Amino acid sequence: MNLTLTILNPTGLHARPGAIFAATAKKFKSAIQIRNLTKDGDWSDAKSVLGVLKLGAENGHQIELSITGEDEAEAAQTLRRVVENGLGESVTGVALQTPSAVQPSQPPANDRQLRGVPGAPGIAIGPVQRWQEQEIAVPRRAGCHPAIETAKLDTACAAAQVELEQLESKVTRDASASEAAIFAVHRMFLEDPDLLQAARGEIQRGVNAEAAWMDAVTQVAERLAGLSDPTIAARAADIRDVGQRVLAHLLGRAASAAFKMTQPGILLARDLTPSQTASLDKALVLAFCTAEGGPTSHSAILARALQLPAVVGLGDALLQMPDGETIIVDGGLGQITLRPLAAELEAARQEKARQAGLAQLAFSEAARPAISLDGRRVEVVANIGDVADARQALEFGAEGVGLLRTEFLYLQRETAPDEQDQYEAYRAIFEVFGSRPVVVRTLDIGGDKMLPYLDLGQEDNPFLGWRAIRICLNRPDIFQPQLRALLRAAQGHDIRIMFPMIAALQEIRAAKDAVAQAAAALKTEGAAFTANVQLGMMVEIPSAAVMADLFAREVDFFSIGTNDLTQYTMAAERTNKRVAYLGDAIHPAILRLIRQVTEAAHAAGKWVGVCGELGGDALALPILLGLGIDELSMTPAMIPQAKAVIRQWHTASAAKLAAEVLSLDTAQAVRAKVQNWPKA
Ligand code: PEP
Ligand code: MG
Repeated sequence: MNLTLTILNPTGLHARPGAIFAATAKKFKSAIQIRNLTKDGDWSDAKSVLGVLKLGAENGHQIELSITGEDEAEAAQTLRRVVENGLGESVTGVALQTPSAVQPSQPPANDRQLRGVPGAPGIAIGPVQRWQEQEIAVPRRAGCHPAIETAKLDTACAAAQVELEQLESKVTRDASASEAAIFAVHRMFLEDPDLLQAARGEIQRGVNAEAAWMDAVTQVAERLAGLSDPTIAARAADIRDVGQRVLAHLLGRAASAAFKMTQPGILLARDLTPSQTASLDKALVLAFCTAEGGPTSHSAILARALQLPAVVGLGDALLQMPDGETIIVDGGLGQITLRPLAAELEAARQEKARQAGLAQLAFSEAARPAISLDGRRVEVVANIGDVADARQALEFGAEGVGLLRTEFLYLQRETAPDEQDQYEAYRAIFEVFGSRPVVVRTLDIGGDKMLPYLDLGQEDNPFLGWRAIRICLNRPDIFQPQLRALLRAAQGHDIRIMFPMIAALQEIRAAKDAVAQAAAALKTEGAAFTANVQLGMMVEIPSAAVMADLFAREVDFFSIGTNDLTQYTMAAERTNKRVAYLGDAIHPAILRLIRQVTEAAHAAGKWVGVCGELGGDALALPILLGLGIDELSMTPAMIPQAKAVIRQWHTASAAKLAAEVLSLDTAQAVRAKVQNWPKA
């Protein structure tokens, strides 16, 4: 059957909606072909994200689908629905995500100025350093054994997948989940049937894996780069990025080695891949400038999320500059000034100070408490992973920390950190927050987070296996040093200890005993510490939510981890994209559990927070306010917006909304209801 649909997305079928479309098509057995009807284009495979991107389908374009197979009717219905619903984007009144581009329409004021395209706003002054790309030569051989070359390619793609997952987690932490989503798209490229078929086809003809892979990548990248829509054409850089990553693995090299600046300065590069941008050290890179790239390239999007001034598309003249020369970068204007005169330097410093003043003004609202129209205060705190996050959280107006993920101390090491290492790391973070509350979660390892030095063994279902508190209670050699370090570092601060993945009452009791044991040992040793810490638990396993009345007697507080609570309630692994449609935590099933937990906590006189992603979800906030949540913990950058949302609501209206959405049947229905609800 054939079907015609109109693309409603404001920037067309670009990477993320395109990826969602291809992933949805993949779920069906039927063969699904797609073409751009408006452009009278050729057919391509709708299950291939690259096939979808190369349509160049823009807002308002019509696409035609040809679906043949046993489930064609269901496929047609589902694809119609996802397209009409905006493929993960809001399709009504969406503002473009591109920066408020000051187009380089005026010529530069003098020949020491270069005009490019604004990448990310901000002024920076400093010496330049050029990223010397090491060209990786692609070896080419004929007469190779196809089975061996195919296995090599598969292994390299698998290694690249793992790396991209790690990068996705890092960017989620440093910027936000939406910026990190590009790496999920990169992972989809790695599984793309179009790309893999092209590479495997060449391998079958005896070509070596490296050459076959890069030929396929180049072919696809060139096709994308030739499309008229700049947003889609910019994806050529993404496919090349993925190409280089796999090539590096095929050649046994470290992929996309991070650029190391020797001193604080301005990074110059021909172009930066998303991976390279994400790996920049913000302490040393004051800004970056690229010869190529546009405002919708992911390096520019990431720069904005990382608040790193950037100018892109400056042309080849940029690369003639000798290392060490001082320049002025104006990211908002998309301009750089070479060999600046004293007066220009002074003007730039003044402009930098003026912009800092304006930003300060915007943040001044963020520092105010979040109080609803009728005077109910909700504590808005941050999810952090290390001391850099801690500083950033304060800038965004965090009133404390609702979730300190302590895994950072344990990852990327050969051996477990000792008590003193941990003490110093915690102390550094606590000092940033002074007397504000900091909820520290004890080690939450296992599931998808492995530690090589902890022999966790192979498990068929690691998310349901030996993880988090289950490991800690079995391994006092790991748990006791952490608890001791926390009790020692807590002195003089308002520290709360929280246990992850509590499923059964005996676990929370054993965890509390472990704290008592650590305190007793410290006392015997005469060490300085405080036992005056609140003890709480994550509610992220359905049994804990269902039995919340009994758990409430055991703890000082609950913090609802909606990420895992959704995964376990819906029986849909959070990293498995095939079941991602079940992963929206705003689903009424999860909201009902949140209500139950909140009521149980309050009945016992305990406070309750939400620290999963739902806690920072603008549409969920009024519901959480209406359900009576006391504390919301989220990625720092979301705090100013979350506070602004709370300030717009009246709790009576929010409570009425909450009561209504609890009886709806889907997550989508909940979102629609909130959007159309009168606030006050
Ligand atoms: C959660 O599960 O909601 C949570 C906050 O913890 P994490 O995402 O670290 O598992
Ligand atoms: Mg969790």
